[in-house]
Amino acid sequence: MELLRPSSADEATAALGNGAVALAGGTELVPLLRDGLIRADKLVHLAAAVPRGIDGTTIGAGTTLAELEADPQIPQALREACSLAASPQLRSMGTVGGNLLQATRCWYWRLGFDCWLHGGEQCFAKSGAHREHAIFGNELCASAHPSDVGAALLALGATVRTTKRELPVGDLYRLPTPDDRSTTTLATDELILELDVPAPGASTYLKAMDRRKWAFPIVGVAAVRSNSGIRIGLAGVAPIPWPLDAAAALDDATPLPGTAYKVEIARALVRRALEEVAEPLPT
Ligand SMILES: Cc1cc2nc3c(=O)[nH]c(=O)nc-3n(C[C@H](O)[C@H](O)[C@H](O)COP(=O)(O)OP(=O)(O)OC[C@H]3O[C@@H](n4cnc5c(N)ncnc54)[C@H](O)[C@@H]3O)c2cc1C
Ligand code: SF4
Repeated sequence: MELLRPSSADEATAALGNGAVALAGGTELVPLLRDGLIRADKLVHLAAAVPRGIDGTTIGAGTTLAELEADPQIPQALREACSLAASPQLRSMGTVGGNLLQATRCWYWRLGFDCWLHGGEQCFAKSGAHREHAIFGNELCASAHPSDVGAALLALGATVRTTKRELPVGDLYRLPTPDDRSTTTLATDELILELDVPAPGASTYLKAMDRRKWAFPIVGVAAVRSNSGIRIGLAGVAPIPWPLDAAAALDDATPLPGTAYKVEIARALVRRALEEVAEPLPT
């Protein structure tokens, strides 16, 4: 395998495709390569091609989760989402760009089963073990998106600048369809360069997980109050980070038998998150 070290985004995008894959911190990509879930003969290292660092509301895609969690300029919901993700070692390597593009943790997919998302005929999770799976958008694939960071950025109304376009972070994702089973809208030769995260009035991120540390979200809830109202983003509940219009929209969940408990957890976390960001009463 060849390692390329392009010195600009243009050079990096020109190298992508035809078996060449972008590499940032490698915390997600390297295990997928090792397990044969992604094949590549060239890795395009993004360290010198993608911005890193925080400047006001702008965040370089190469900024690590550890850098985000420690910076007081970053809204609380995003800092909390980062600090509750993974482990300190992974957060010091893992970038925000890579976090947004991580693949599902569905064990059937990770173990290489020929399931629907891998191009097969059926979703094995629906008839098999699925306690960590989705309660929304789960008609064809019941996987649950694992990004705490994605849910926080969704609620914060972040926009993404790529090498091709500028878009709301929610538009980076799509529910997979029979014609196109990918869960992102990013082209194979497109890179995330920067994020713009508007400063909120108040924000929070709450996470239910199997362990107090180093566990993916069973349910993650970001709530943000801004001039345009309250926005809620959920992690761990759908194949993509999930926007929730209001607490009542949880009534529209379509849980599997083994994920009904997630609806109740989401109700409790949404209620608490909304209380935390509520406008203080006048004294
Ligand atoms: C054990 C473990 C536990 C974890 N727990 C959590 C958790 O609780 N919550 C959570 O949110 N996350 C969790 N993560 C995910 C972790 O945060 C991500 O693995 C990490 O942020 C990915 O960033 P990276 O720079 O290492 O990406 P890489 O592994 O380098 O890349 C990941 C993917 O993104 C692509 N990519 C990377 N950067 C760009 C870019 N700028 N433009 C276009 N494509 C790009 C790569 O091609 C690849 O497909 C966990 C990971 C592990 C391994
Ligand atoms: S939930 Fe999605 S990834 Fe998991 S088995 Fe079903 S189709 Fe495959």
